[in-house]
Amino acid sequence: MGLFDYIHVTCPKCDDQMVTQSKAGPCAMRDFSPDSVPIEIAKDVEGETIHCETCDRSYIIVVDRTTPETVPIFARVKSARDSARDYN
Ligand SMILES: [Zn+2]
Repeated sequence: MGLFDYIHVTCPKCDDQMVTQSKAGPCAMRDFSPDSVPIEIAKDVEGETIHCETCDRSYIIVVDRTTPETVPIFARVKSARDSARDYN
């Protein structure tokens, strides 16, 4: 199965969204916006050439290493033991 994730990158010239693919992660056909790409996915596409259809130019994908790594968050079902930590 050719599964992959989509990574969106903003064109530095026209601000349009370009898109590339990565097979580095779980490849669950996820969509990542430019400001929240998991680090392993970001490293996979770093240095790749990406083409903007709108302004017909090619760009190199750069990873902003000044921001902390993106971590996954999820929700689980509450249990009785959670009530002590419910601040609301
Ligand atoms: Zn463009």
